[in-house]
Amino acid sequence: MAVNDLYRLTIHEAHRLLVKGEVTSVELTRSVLERIEAVEERVRAFITVTADLALEQAAEADRRIRAGDATPLTGIPVQLKDVIVTRGIRTTCGSRILENFVPIYDATVARRLAEAGAVLVGKGNMDEFAMGSSTENSAFFPTRNPWDLERVPGGSSGGSAAAVAADECIYALGSDTGGSVRQPAALCNVVGLKPTYGRVSRFGLIAFASSLDQIGPLTKDVEDCALVMNVIAGPDPNDSTTVNIPVPDYTRFLIPDLKGLRLGVPAEYYEGIQPEVKGVLTTAIRVLEGLGAEIIWDVSLPHTRYALPCYYIIAPSEASSNLARYDGVKYGYSYFEAEDVWDAMMKTRQYGFGPEVKRRIMLGTYALSAGYYDAYYLKAQKVRTLIRADFDRAFQRVDALVTPTSPTVAFRLGERTQDPLQMYMSDICTIPVNIAGICGLSVPAGFVDGLPVGMQLIGRAFDEGTLLRIGYAYQQATDWHRRRPPL
Ligand code: GLN
Repeated sequence: MAVNDLYRLTIHEAHRLLVKGEVTSVELTRSVLERIEAVEERVRAFITVTADLALEQAAEADRRIRAGDATPLTGIPVQLKDVIVTRGIRTTCGSRILENFVPIYDATVARRLAEAGAVLVGKGNMDEFAMGSSTENSAFFPTRNPWDLERVPGGSSGGSAAAVAADECIYALGSDTGGSVRQPAALCNVVGLKPTYGRVSRFGLIAFASSLDQIGPLTKDVEDCALVMNVIAGPDPNDSTTVNIPVPDYTRFLIPDLKGLRLGVPAEYYEGIQPEVKGVLTTAIRVLEGLGAEIIWDVSLPHTRYALPCYYIIAPSEASSNLARYDGVKYGYSYFEAEDVWDAMMKTRQYGFGPEVKRRIMLGTYALSAGYYDAYYLKAQKVRTLIRADFDRAFQRVDALVTPTSPTVAFRLGERTQDPLQMYMSDICTIPVNIAGICGLSVPAGFVDGLPVGMQLIGRAFDEGTLLRIGYAYQQATDWHRRRPPL
């Protein structure tokens, strides 16, 4: 492979070349940085590019590789969504209120990647505070879908998905509260995993809705996803919600057949789906069947239709509480010309937050207020239990569920910005997974008019391995994940 094409590699391909000494991390990193130079003006996937740091880390990685001490991620360029704090590197969360925020510590995932020898090329654009499905709520600029620059990449991890799709990094980490890793992965034709709640540390993930948030990988294929999970998964003393269940070697699950697996197709997830997307899924399900899986067609998750309203009570409630810390006192933007302390806090928040963030704070504050708490927040928590029970019942009969990731292919920039409800509907298939705290994987499954479609695999808590197995087998039988946008 020509040195200037190295940016196209997956993690496992790059690793093989690095340890054989056929390429160096500095060469690989240069290639990725040149790729960013070449396409970033059109895609706009990065809020910050850390080119100098990347080249330093690459040189260090090369020393480590030469010393025979390489991990599968050593020397490989990664982008982190700008919701993940990085010591000494500006972390904006897509918001004016954190525009000049330089964290004094690393998120656990950032630290683990650094210890594995990763090379950070920059921070990914995102919807402000991860609230959105198109990356148009970024306070800075929208990211464009590499498959069609007039369309959105999805969100809120749109800058991460677009960067992976456009080969501006080898892989990325995003965050997923209601679909923000899986939906952009689907719209950009990359692999995205929302791990089980408690599988990956949230320490240093800027909080949106703490009972739903989870960090997950965006990669070019399923094998890479397994390699990244091997590094980021596992308990963390700094996040008491991480669970002390042993982390398997996820590459053990990468076997190319599905014999003995029962896969459910829940009808509720196919209602109101764009017909062509449904068509793609029908074909994909036949492929899974051909690989030896038994398809169970009569699985039902009857409370699915309450998932979206349930989410839009719980997520804004938690957000309204989490975002109370942005008062202009300790960090982030402060309004200085204020008359008194109250005026300072109000103006800081008035100018610092964008309209969607304010909408969520108002929704959440209302749902939690005295007199409404029982009617909204408490009720939503009860519905949450019912949704989780649906999955428990389904998983007594099947090993995983197969659904679309997004009800439509990528939509046009501006198409849903005036209609929040339309925007919220983008996550109708992904939100139930966060509500139940289980895991979901999106893999490329085909195209409609040149635009990618993702297949979502939903699994039992802490059973990411089975999802990776299904996704891997599917990728051995198809080549959708190998297609690259015509940038
Ligand atoms: N689109 C959903 C929202 O706006 C989910 C976002 C996310 O997963 N962070 O809340």
